[in-house]
Amino acid sequence: MASEFDLIARYFTRAAPAGLLGVGDDCALFPVPAGEQVATSTDLLLEGRHFFPDVDPKALGHKALAVNLSDLAAMGARPIGCVLGLALPRLDEAWLAAFAEGFHALAQVHGCPLIGGDTTRSVHDLAISVTVFGAVPAGAALRRDGARVDDDIWVSGELGAADVAYRLLDGQYPADAARLAATRGALEWPEPQVALGVALRGIAHAAIDISDGLLQDLGHILAASRVGALLHEDRMPVAAALAGMPADVVRQAVLGGGDVYQLCFTAPPARRDAVRAAAQAAGVRVTQVGNIVAEPGLVLRDAAGQPLTRLPAGFDHFPSV
Ligand code: ADP
Ligand code: MG
Repeated sequence: MASEFDLIARYFTRAAPAGLLGVGDDCALFPVPAGEQVATSTDLLLEGRHFFPDVDPKALGHKALAVNLSDLAAMGARPIGCVLGLALPRLDEAWLAAFAEGFHALAQVHGCPLIGGDTTRSVHDLAISVTVFGAVPAGAALRRDGARVDDDIWVSGELGAADVAYRLLDGQYPADAARLAATRGALEWPEPQVALGVALRGIAHAAIDISDGLLQDLGHILAASRVGALLHEDRMPVAAALAGMPADVVRQAVLGGGDVYQLCFTAPPARRDAVRAAAQAAGVRVTQVGNIVAEPGLVLRDAAGQPLTRLPAGFDHFPSV
């Protein structure tokens, strides 16, 4: 029978890069480059709340790190390393091996080694907590409070697929195997836009990652920056996998759908070429979907130019009734 320490050694211990002290001591150690700030963020994923109990463990390992790397991306920070807290209801080595494989593979792609963590037995459910550390030149982070009037509003990638996959798996939409096959990757294997975030330093005024829905997350930028927004529905980069779905489903998925992990950012119109060059260097599509305005609030015009009155809501763990 494997002990806690065997498990840590087998699945979570990897050689740390030179200059870092990784798994094995009371703390991990990493240097902070002169003139840079540490960016750190943590996300808690709970079985039944953030993922289905039967989700592919390799995908879960990937996503647990991806959602954290997405927060670094949204600040323009370059990953340094991460720590992993695991509460496991039972010992399932096949599950752990697959989870670790998905986690370490993404960590390697982004140069974000696992340098510590904690492993405990839980009474019922599985809980996963990941904390990431990144570095960003002092004063260069892309914050939520930097948007200025007349800035363009951009989104990276495509919108809507993760929301449709979630609702299909949750039984909210009638079973549709082909649609699920086309959308599931977006939900279970999100690709954090780390390279784009770094490339947007010095170009974007404000940024956020879309975890709870475009309108809700953009709303955080608007509130922090004390500005408003005018958006155009017909400019939205709708995921190709949504083709042929009813208009109200597409609208909900694109504007209100969470679990996207693309970036929403603002930049001055004079920097459009720089934004496009940054996106090209990062290998991701970007779309200008509207502008920042002085009047607080969010106005969304439909294809006919009419303002929409009922906007889709984003995700909220504690919605007020
Ligand atoms: P402590 O008693 O100081 O909490 P532990 O015995 O829990 O230390 O952990 C031993 C080492 O293994 C520490 O370096 C810790 O960071 C690491 N570790 C424990 N669990 C994990 C995990 N899930 N992922 C990565 N490292 C882990
Ligand atoms: Mg411990």
